Amino acid sequence: MRLRLTEEEAAFREEMHTFFNTEIPQDIRDDIRAGREIGKDHFVRSLRVMNAAGIAVPNWPLEWGGKDWTPLQKHIWHEELQLACVPPPLAFNAGMIGPVIAHFGSQEMKERFLPATANLDIWWAQGFSEPNAGSDLASLTTRAERDGDDWIVNGQKTWTTLGQHADWIFCLCRTDPEVKKQAGISMLLFPMDSPGVTLRPIKLLDGSYEVNEVFFDNVRVPGENLVGEVNQGWTQAKFLLGNERVGVAPVGATKRALATAKEHAIDLGVLDDPLLAARFAELENQLLALELTALRVVANSADGKPHPASSVLKLKGTELQQEVTELLVDLAGPLSLSSGSESVPEWAAHTVPTYLNFRKASIYGGSNEVQRSIIAGTILGL
Ligand SMILES: Cc1cc2nc3c(=O)[nH]c(=O)nc-3n(C[C@H](O)[C@H](O)[C@H](O)COP(=O)(O)OP(=O)(O)OC[C@H]3O[C@@H](n4cnc5c(N)ncnc54)[C@H](O)[C@@H]3O)c2cc1C
Repeated sequence: MRLRLTEEEAAFREEMHTFFNTEIPQDIRDDIRAGREIGKDHFVRSLRVMNAAGIAVPNWPLEWGGKDWTPLQKHIWHEELQLACVPPPLAFNAGMIGPVIAHFGSQEMKERFLPATANLDIWWAQGFSEPNAGSDLASLTTRAERDGDDWIVNGQKTWTTLGQHADWIFCLCRTDPEVKKQAGISMLLFPMDSPGVTLRPIKLLDGSYEVNEVFFDNVRVPGENLVGEVNQGWTQAKFLLGNERVGVAPVGATKRALATAKEHAIDLGVLDDPLLAARFAELENQLLALELTALRVVANSADGKPHPASSVLKLKGTELQQEVTELLVDLAGPLSLSSGSESVPEWAAHTVPTYLNFRKASIYGGSNEVQRSIIAGTILGL
């Protein structure tokens, strides 16, 4: 494998670096760099700048705003975006439902939804998980029953991330309870303000609000909002989840967090401590190994289909992300517990909430235990 960027690739990296550091509003990037909570407005404003420049959804098919970039260019785009503290294009739109509609949807559905999805005119929520169907997703029990041309949806979803901002939901429903569980699922699209949809917030350990329960009580969904064929939902879900795992190895963001941690260690005058220096070196090496693995995976993914090794990226990427949040807490020391005090530096006050928040990373997108099983079965052949 070639490890050095070609001249064109280096120029492309420079172009992305300049774009993200000059075109995306500074206040958005400052908030991310400082670890402040970011809201809907941050995502929408930055995404629209990217979409206007034609670089919001490079992974989509060309005719819907995708780019004819090499996998390496797409990787560089993603990494530079994270390094510049730019909010990534909303995963539910750009990485999940967009590619599913582009792959499985009718022409009408593509025209109706894809441009609005790329521009974040529609904010999507992912309605997959249920109280008894997370890792065992195929056990989902939310029902969709025919009523003339329409579907009537009843049931409950949970952990619906940022559902409070969502305009629409892509929802897996059981459309045939009589067949093998994977064979009786379909994907429906409907507005979150449809009569019968109720959203209830779930309060998190770090005090923030980003996930919800969603209840469906006789929600009427027009037949044309079915994605692809009836009972094809499991195929669509597997396609979507493979993409999701590629996106959750946040190499650029973790590198940036580690670099920030190093700056704090220098300011605090503790980087000379041999144990701490070794910890930095270990994390930097592991991140480099992950980055090279990510490059190998992107270089080997054919036809835009996710590579099975995406599970390795999800697993290792989230482990490193969590380790860096832990390192920051250790660096802040007692200051990390002094939230609310004005004499505490802002970065130190954010360390514990961020550490607690990122416990989620090894659960969402398919828990890391389940990723290990996938790696054992599909890659190692155990
Ligand atoms: C912050 C956050 C945001 C999320 N956002 C969304 C969202 O927007 N939309 C959505 O649909 N879902 C979302 N999810 C749901 C997420 O995908 C599930 O939480 C995840 O798939 C795990 O399912 P579960 O929570 O039901 O846990 P379970 O599947 O019940 O697992 C409980 C424990 O058992 C382990 N386990 C389960 N099965 C196995 C197995 N076969 N082998 C070994 N260990 C196993 C798990 O690893 C875990 O430790 C989100 C979750 C979180 C935490």
